[in-house]
Amino acid sequence: MKVPVSRIRAANTNSPDSSQDFVLYWMTSFRRLQFNYSLQRAVEWCRELNKPLLVLEAVRADYEWASVRLHSFIIQGMHDNFSAAAGRNITYYPYIEPSPGSGSGMVEYLTRHCCVVVTDDYPCFFLPRMLKAVSRRSPVLVEAIDSNGLLPMHTTGTVFPTAYAFRRYLQSSLAGFLSEMPQENCLKEVIPLMQRLPEDLPRRWPAASQADLSNAVTTARRIPVDRSVQPGWATGGSHEAVKQWRRFLIDRLSHYPEHRNQPDENGSSGLSPWLHFGHLSVHQMFRELADHEHWAPDRLGSVRQTRGSREGWWGMSSAAESFLDELVTWRELGFNMCSKVKNYDQYESLPEWAQQTLHEHASDIRPVTYDFEQLQNAATHDPLWNAAQNQLLTEGRMHNYLRMLWGKKILQWSHTPQQALKTMITLNNRFATDGRDPNSYSGIFWVLGRYDRAWGPERTIFGKIRYMTSENTARKLHLSEYLKRYSPEKVRGRLF
Ligand SMILES: Cc1cc2nc3c(=O)[nH]c(=O)nc-3n(C[C@H](O)[C@H](O)[C@H](O)COP(=O)(O)OP(=O)(O)OC[C@H]3O[C@@H](n4cnc5c(N)ncnc54)[C@H](O)[C@@H]3O)c2cc1C
Repeated sequence: MKVPVSRIRAANTNSPDSSQDFVLYWMTSFRRLQFNYSLQRAVEWCRELNKPLLVLEAVRADYEWASVRLHSFIIQGMHDNFSAAAGRNITYYPYIEPSPGSGSGMVEYLTRHCCVVVTDDYPCFFLPRMLKAVSRRSPVLVEAIDSNGLLPMHTTGTVFPTAYAFRRYLQSSLAGFLSEMPQENCLKEVIPLMQRLPEDLPRRWPAASQADLSNAVTTARRIPVDRSVQPGWATGGSHEAVKQWRRFLIDRLSHYPEHRNQPDENGSSGLSPWLHFGHLSVHQMFRELADHEHWAPDRLGSVRQTRGSREGWWGMSSAAESFLDELVTWRELGFNMCSKVKNYDQYESLPEWAQQTLHEHASDIRPVTYDFEQLQNAATHDPLWNAAQNQLLTEGRMHNYLRMLWGKKILQWSHTPQQALKTMITLNNRFATDGRDPNSYSGIFWVLGRYDRAWGPERTIFGKIRYMTSENTARKLHLSEYLKRYSPEKVRGRLF
């Protein structure tokens, strides 16, 4: 099956140049060689033009929040791709920028020597800007391919204001896309092998060696990125991602609905870091989940029956439906927002009602406030909040339920909601391995009212924004192990 047109976006108006030597796949977000529409599209071009394929996977040293934690995770993924590409009919070129700016000009140089550029269409962080800049300067066609989720991002022009509205839309529109699947291994296709690299590439921008990739943490520590953020709990790469996913599917999915919100249980999948860096494909997950559930498309319900309700549409077990509601409805809702709303990361993108109520309460007295350093260092009076922040600092993750509480307390303890937003974005994106993602902005802006409704009674500071307290959370959840594990004494030796 060919890559569906709904996944392909021309990023400039140029034509392919078949007099050049190779097709370039510039891998920026879907950092994997399996179930990847971008790679598949690049192979299609190779077959059409009878040209070899160069896959460039690079990591820059100068993006905001670049750290040893993020770099080592990415490099571990590059190591997996390097191993998976060995002996195949492609040339895989891993590039680790040794210092800010030293990679400048590399992609532009390649665009001048290739027939066509295929790259990843990711709607968030600096990537859309980078794609625009390269597309503007490229003499050949640049195609951006959407391998983000089950629903192609550009299928709809609507920005969905709630998960409910998006779920209703999915229930009326997704069925047709579920039969479309990127090839598991598109490198089976016969394409010519590259005989030599463009001359200046290895000389000006030498590829990372196998040793650099195998020793990801040591390599990352050599790069001038933030060294105060050291590796978290997760090892990057498709190999680990698929292992974690299958373990979850077999051992924990059946308890997902009861355990997901319990910090003392390992109840959720923990897969967001690999999903964020594209080490794992949602299509692969969906296919394996469907097999696990002995599911067939004729089990799908209709929106007329289910009317946007969380369960009942997929025709799977209630645990699988609950998981899909997070993985598809909530996850792709963020992609919907980022791909359509330019200022998705700005305070002004909040719904009108939320901005108004926060404004009305802007001068409420804040009995307790903390500055950025106190919050970053988990130095508040609230042991539960500190434990959650300590988990983020040491492991690069935070339990899902506590993420919500974490944000609500930052709102309560900040002088203004704008300051709270800035603090959340900085802490989340600096320390969370899954940060800088459309879901980072969904979650953080949810704290301030996005995707939510007005709640009563109206409270100080929050106004009509949904309110959460540590006391209520502690009453509802099993937390004793969590509080011990992330207490100041336990994490002291692990802080950097
Ligand atoms: C303040 C705040 C900040 C957040 N920051 C991020 C972030 O930086 N990156 C990130 O991926 N998610 C973020 N989230 C959303 C959510 O908390 C995480 O996706 C989830 O905790 C990841 O854990 P998991 O992989 O075990 O999820 P699971 O429960 O196993 O869910 C599977 C997948 O579904 C998606 N998902 C689950 N819950 C949500 C949700 N509420 N919204 C959107 N997608 C969801 C994720 O891709 C997740 O990996 C944030 C939420 C809040 C409240």
